[in-house]
Amino acid sequence: MPARNPSRSRFARTAAVLLLWAAASFAAVSAQVPPPPDKPKPPQQKPARPAPDPKAVALRGAYGPYRANNDLLSYDLDLRVDPKAKSWGGKNTIRFKMLKEDSRVQLDLVSALKVEKIMFEGSALAYTREYDAVFVDFPRPLKKDEVAAVDFYFSGQATGERGRGGISFGTDPVGRTWITTSCQGSGAMTWWPNKEQQRDEVENMVLRVSIPNGLTDVSNGRFAGKTDLGDGYTRWDWTIHYPINNYCVSLNIGTYVHFEDRLDGLSMDFYCLPEDLDKARSQFAQAKPMIECFQKYFGPYPFFRDGYKLVQVPYAGMEHQSAVTYGNRFANGYLERDWTGVGISLKFDFIIIHESAHEWMGNSVTAADICDMWIHEGWGTYMEAVYVEHMFGYDDALEYINGYKGKVRNRQPIVGPRDTHYYPPQDQYFKGALFIHTLRSIVDDDAKWWALVKGLYGRFKYQNIETEDVIRYFNDGTGIDLRPVFDQYLKCAAIPALELKFDEADGTVSYRWKADETSFAMPVRAGRKGQWALLRPTIEWQTMKTDLKKDEFEVDVEHYFIDVVKTI
Ligand SMILES: [Zn+2]
Repeated sequence: MPARNPSRSRFARTAAVLLLWAAASFAAVSAQVPPPPDKPKPPQQKPARPAPDPKAVALRGAYGPYRANNDLLSYDLDLRVDPKAKSWGGKNTIRFKMLKEDSRVQLDLVSALKVEKIMFEGSALAYTREYDAVFVDFPRPLKKDEVAAVDFYFSGQATGERGRGGISFGTDPVGRTWITTSCQGSGAMTWWPNKEQQRDEVENMVLRVSIPNGLTDVSNGRFAGKTDLGDGYTRWDWTIHYPINNYCVSLNIGTYVHFEDRLDGLSMDFYCLPEDLDKARSQFAQAKPMIECFQKYFGPYPFFRDGYKLVQVPYAGMEHQSAVTYGNRFANGYLERDWTGVGISLKFDFIIIHESAHEWMGNSVTAADICDMWIHEGWGTYMEAVYVEHMFGYDDALEYINGYKGKVRNRQPIVGPRDTHYYPPQDQYFKGALFIHTLRSIVDDDAKWWALVKGLYGRFKYQNIETEDVIRYFNDGTGIDLRPVFDQYLKCAAIPALELKFDEADGTVSYRWKADETSFAMPVRAGRKGQWALLRPTIEWQTMKTDLKKDEFEVDVEHYFIDVVKTI
């Protein structure tokens, strides 16, 4: 998803909202749109919220025993959506393989939705609901390696409660039915039953959406045909040939028109409202160079068999896999704003680039726990700068990424506790990207850097990984112990500060890092701009000769995201 845009009205209007279940931070953030107002606002008094029940947090966030005892194989989600009643229902056939013998599994469906029945081998299963968890009990132990399938029948009604009533029923500007989903954070369980976590994904999925005749459903995967059901409804079938994380599964029901393109055999399909066709044809042309760019730097488009789609929606956008949703008003920038404030954002459509970047980092490479979501958002944001460098050159990219500095807060760590549904602060976007940019300066060899980037993607594509995996990968790839650097930027609130103490009479400067990580060490360029010297500071003082006075001595802060503290 994109970082939140500052428009409150849109913020309120756009659908899903994340309920942050982390015990410490219990705030609401728009799923499509994270925060930062560009101008600092006075701190607002937040209403006190009750701390969530630790049991609810564990059921939501932990990879508990009844999740860990099985491995998802496939979903076959078949549902009917009634726009008039704002209701929906159907069944999800959930196939999984047991990893150990057991007679219970945990599935999830928000308590606001109804469980109709759960069938297994022709009989209804017993189940217990606890918060949003549904514990399903089998009449016999399922053996290790046994493949089982349950038919989970459910129904729901739009509640209007943010983050709980997962399907948004609305109308387009002309007043026609427009129904969409966007559930990152709040969870796919707000509209269909599944195993609600990020560690385990199905290998593939079928999505069957029945809607009144005359409407079109655009979902993930490859269109597999439509069937007139004879009762005023038509079923639209989509086949997803790849692993998919739950929050990426998406419905987009409306009066869509379609046009298409191809890129070296990759199908590119575009869906928009009829009135916006000309604008869409023009604006969506940016998708092709975007895919070319990310294929060059990261690797082949991950979902070739499913194709690439852009689908117009009434909210800013979301990285729905192979059906990226788009609501950026067919204008460059982010909702017509210069997102990084340095003029470069207006050269491209922020939503097309950012949301599609997630096809590589987020959808193909997925964080196993949401505390590791910087793998999606830090990299997704960094990929904007990669795109700028590819299209407009290195100088623009440098300016673009440094434009993000004003959005960094450094108030809490990006990576928080595992298994607690810890949703990282917005620093995961901008600080995450500036950290990756700093990492490039540490590597200090562009050929090696781009090989490492492509290698990272290639190593972890279609996998669900943790921050630790990324650290190990870069340690192996560089031969440098980068753990203290990763830990300082991702697991501490503050960025490292380079302390410089000048003895002008003596013609020396002493330097060291001030950092929370006691073994923090990182090279940095400093001295005279254009003739930088490479310093290798640690947390211990070192001294070097310099003919530069305190005010003349500079540090290359465009390439290293650090603070600098100068004293005499
Ligand atoms: Zn994003």
